[in-house]
Amino acid sequence: MNIVCLDMEGVLVPEIWIAFAEASGIPELKRTTRDEPDYDKLMRWRLDILKKHGLGIREIQATIARIDPLPGAKEFLDALRKDTQVIILSDTFEQFAKPLMEKLGWPTIFCNTLEVADSGEITGFRMRCPQSKLTTVRGLQSIGYDTIAAGDSFNDLGMIQASKAGFLFKSTDAIKADHPEVPAYEEFSDLLRAIRAALD
Ligand SMILES: [Mg+2]
Repeated sequence: MNIVCLDMEGVLVPEIWIAFAEASGIPELKRTTRDEPDYDKLMRWRLDILKKHGLGIREIQATIARIDPLPGAKEFLDALRKDTQVIILSDTFEQFAKPLMEKLGWPTIFCNTLEVADSGEITGFRMRCPQSKLTTVRGLQSIGYDTIAAGDSFNDLGMIQASKAGFLFKSTDAIKADHPEVPAYEEFSDLLRAIRAALD
């Protein structure tokens, strides 16, 4: 039995923090794990900035609602979900993903969660488990699934390499050059064809 595990940001939707920085007009929020590799520190810094700008969960969700999935992403997911089960595995937070999941037709997503006060202020965050994508793929395999995985970034390589079939999608030249053994695609039609071939 197969199950497809897809990364979200960079694959189905734009990078949320970068798109959010543009939509909200707060350029500091473009800082990513490339600039600050300590994710915990980066998130605390981001939450501080949100607080300074008086942005709570409602304002953030309203801004994220203006961000659209990548062109063709919904059609790709709709087609794939007719053929097999699909789970989106993401390091984002369910409250940020929600407006985007609505635009993608409410697919299943496993991600992390924000701690939100009654006032709407984001007071903290909880990560689901360490190495969440690889850990989840291993968990699915332990209950009888063969996994097929696709993603664009370093943190997707674990689940890609641990799966029956794995693909890079809309990745960087550096990652593709470092991993010539992983088939890489840029178009949803090519990724869909490759996943369908791996389902048999
Ligand atoms: Mg990504």
